[in-house]
Amino acid sequence: MTSPARPEVHRHLLPGVDPRIFALRVADEVDAFVVRTERFVALVDTLATPELCARALELIADETGGRPLLVVNTHADWDHVWGNAAVEGRAPIIGHRSAAARVRSARARDTWRDKRAADDRFDRVRLVAPTVTFDTSLTLDGGDLTLELLHTPGHTPDHIAVWIPQLRVCLAGDAAEDPLPELWEGDASSAAQLVASLELLRSLAPEQVLPSHGGTTDPALLDRNLGYFASLTGAYADAVRAGGPEFETVFPDSSGLSGPALAFYRACHRKAVRAAAAGRL
Ligand SMILES: [Zn+2]
Repeated sequence: MTSPARPEVHRHLLPGVDPRIFALRVADEVDAFVVRTERFVALVDTLATPELCARALELIADETGGRPLLVVNTHADWDHVWGNAAVEGRAPIIGHRSAAARVRSARARDTWRDKRAADDRFDRVRLVAPTVTFDTSLTLDGGDLTLELLHTPGHTPDHIAVWIPQLRVCLAGDAAEDPLPELWEGDASSAAQLVASLELLRSLAPEQVLPSHGGTTDPALLDRNLGYFASLTGAYADAVRAGGPEFETVFPDSSGLSGPALAFYRACHRKAVRAAAAGRL
């Protein structure tokens, strides 16, 4: 099967956010981010294909001014890192140690096979792992700005977020999402990890939170996501024990979601309900 409409990437300025940070947006798919510092330009995520990433590099060519490019992978999900081949050999690719294993996993190859079968824009993807890895945290000192890479598992085991203290900006990856972030598994361990990661990010008191999906900068997103998970063992505890509640009950304002988005977030919600029913949220 071939998809006739190829997604495109656009430079997207974020209202109210320091202009040293901007998004590279693929509509309805994902945002990558660029952070321009005195010493380097950081590209946070490489989008879903090498073609999209190559186009993104063209769009930011005027940003580098001779400064080196550093690439950060927030986590090894396809929409965030399948552009890695476009930067291989040109820049270090920094990610969590377990991201490298995920990129090389049978699960990743299965996903690639399925995506290629559905859409030939994935034909030229190569699964390229991070070249610089860490376990808990890693600090990139850009001079005027510091990028603190923080292991924040729960959405995936290898997930990292980026904290920029000088601007009080958090690039949350997929740890935070509107209306809810997806858990790695529908089990208590994934849920406990994601709640702990959201609490860690909230403890930093960010003034702006930029998730990879949804285009918001609202720091209250962390409170809303934490409130959602708390509600599954609080206000909705009885409903969870009975196998519910319905997505629309918890998110009554979800009518603006597209069909595919609604199906996706309903599935995320069912996974979270299973995790809550497992009892240790
Ligand atoms: Zn993800």
